[in-house]
Amino acid sequence: MSDSDEPVPVGLSTPHFQEALLDAINDALPEGILVVNGEGLIVSYNQRILDVWGIPPEVMEGVGIGSAIGTVHDPLLASVCERTNDPAAFAARFRELHDAPELDDDCEIALKDGRTLARVSTALHGRDGEYLGRVWFYRDITPQKLAQAQLEALAREDPLTGVMNRRYYDERAAQEFARADREQLTLAPVEFDLDHFKQINDRHGHAAGDEVLKAVCGASTTMMRATSLFARIGGEEFVFLLSPTTQEGALIFAERLRARVAALEIPVGEETISVTISIGVALRHPGGDTPEACLVRADNAMYAAKTNGRNRVELAD
Ligand code: GH3
Ligand code: MG
Ligand code: MG
Repeated sequence: MSDSDEPVPVGLSTPHFQEALLDAINDALPEGILVVNGEGLIVSYNQRILDVWGIPPEVMEGVGIGSAIGTVHDPLLASVCERTNDPAAFAARFRELHDAPELDDDCEIALKDGRTLARVSTALHGRDGEYLGRVWFYRDITPQKLAQAQLEALAREDPLTGVMNRRYYDERAAQEFARADREQLTLAPVEFDLDHFKQINDRHGHAAGDEVLKAVCGASTTMMRATSLFARIGGEEFVFLLSPTTQEGALIFAERLRARVAALEIPVGEETISVTISIGVALRHPGGDTPEACLVRADNAMYAAKTNGRNRVELAD
């Protein structure tokens, strides 16, 4: 009965109504739901929680409403744990939440099959604040995680060539410079610009120019080591950041790069296009200049290579 004298709307407070409502919510929600009471016994769950976790039907034989959850021999908990990337951490957090009514939880859980689940767990309290139990929500957020990762990758990538863009290069170069200082490493930006690229566009068209850029990029990336960055930093300007390296190593690398690009025969329509590059190398010792200042020195060396005849490598002062 209600505390006030107002009549209770027909059906709203009946157990049948509540049960039907709960069933409808359980069916409609995209989340898998499991509800336990204050003794840790299952009060309700929906089919979606089994689907979201990929729990086979045989695990649920003997598990249902009224089963104790979180016990040592609980097959449901064991099945769920073994699907996570870190079963021990999952079990420990589950136990923590299970044992502490005041705790709520909102986290992401990585599964061995590559998917990610979002979990929200909320304690249920009665009108007087007494602990009634706990509800667990699990949702498969893999599509959102993939979309987010793709967006992040796009924001870092040059759309034409697929290599790192200038903005992401600046971010990564700052990290590499900081690491080089900590670990006392020498690094070297190796910057290059295509020679007489305007003529290629003029003679063969902009689309052919694009193909040449992609081919030069492809040849360049085959020279990447795990520790070097490679980025498009302008229209037809690119940079490697070699780390760690030496003056001799950087110059050998630049010369091999020059020769590799010069040897390319790039098929465009009926024709084959060849191109050369001018390269500037700057060295940066621990505690030296900033990524920007170091790139300016590589850029100056690259322009010296242009002035000195193109298709060559120059070392910054
Ligand atoms: P230099 O040897 O002195 O470098 O001569 P250059 O003709 O290459 O001169 P510059 O480096 O100034 O030319 C840049 C040209 O690159 C001009 C621009 O139209 C072209 N370019 C820039 N971005 C792109 C692109 O994405 N695609 C194509 N096809 N051309 C581009
Ligand atoms: Mg050029
Ligand atoms: Mg240029």
